[in-house]
Amino acid sequence: MSGWVRIVGLGPGNDALITPEVVGVLEEATDVVGYIPYVRRVPARAGLTRHESDNRVELDRAQHALSMAVEGRRVAVVSSGDPGVFAMASAVFEAAEDGPPAWRGLEVTVHPGITAMLAAAAALGAPLGHDFCCINLSDNLKPWALIEKRLRLAAEADFAMAFYNPRSKARPEGFGRALEVLRDTCAPDQLIMFARAVSTPDQALTVVPLSEATPEMADMRTVVIMGASNTRIIPRDDGPWVYTPRSVPV
Ligand code: SAH
Repeated sequence: MSGWVRIVGLGPGNDALITPEVVGVLEEATDVVGYIPYVRRVPARAGLTRHESDNRVELDRAQHALSMAVEGRRVAVVSSGDPGVFAMASAVFEAAEDGPPAWRGLEVTVHPGITAMLAAAAALGAPLGHDFCCINLSDNLKPWALIEKRLRLAAEADFAMAFYNPRSKARPEGFGRALEVLRDTCAPDQLIMFARAVSTPDQALTVVPLSEATPEMADMRTVVIMGASNTRIIPRDDGPWVYTPRSVPV
């Protein structure tokens, strides 16, 4: 049988949010490749080899997957959320572009998953119901100056915004700087939402005005959603509903 690489998204955490298409890929695979916690989400079974790797070796992992597929293995490359959002799909194509010609003859397909910002938005109500954008706040793979420029322009354009990788132990000060950039442009009462470990038993949702946001409200398991100027909150006893209206008055 000829090998393939299928790049799949495992969704934000709850197995009920994995698509049936991805479940089918995982059933057919001979090998699973990915970052340790994501590979561990795929149950062990006879005939399946699980290859766990560290977070920072995306390109090595992609090359490993492609070389196994050339040997006839059926390789699932797993990411959390969606594999095309700050995840493995780009790494596989980057490796294929620079690698041996045989890699470009392989069957390589991408199978979407529910990305963190959409699961978070659903848990909060509909804060991304109008125009929005999405920015990765990690400066591991790009200069901080570019992050700051994109934040500033997105805030000026009054997008709702979703921020991935807001804060890590290695980068404790970046998110504080991001909040300062937002405060330069956005009103103090504009809503900001912290959605942690969405769809898992640890899920925690916090909604505050920008003036009350602190860097400690975010960590690496949090996706942050900054509301647009017209994003609204409906207070309720069991947690508020937050939404952005479908229209902006002409
Ligand atoms: N491919 C993934 C994103 C990988 S980047 C996706 O599509 O969701 C990792 C970042 O995603 C984390 O730092 C966090 O900001 C966010 N994230 C992933 N899972 C999450 C979850 N269950 N709840 C909140 N944020 C999450």
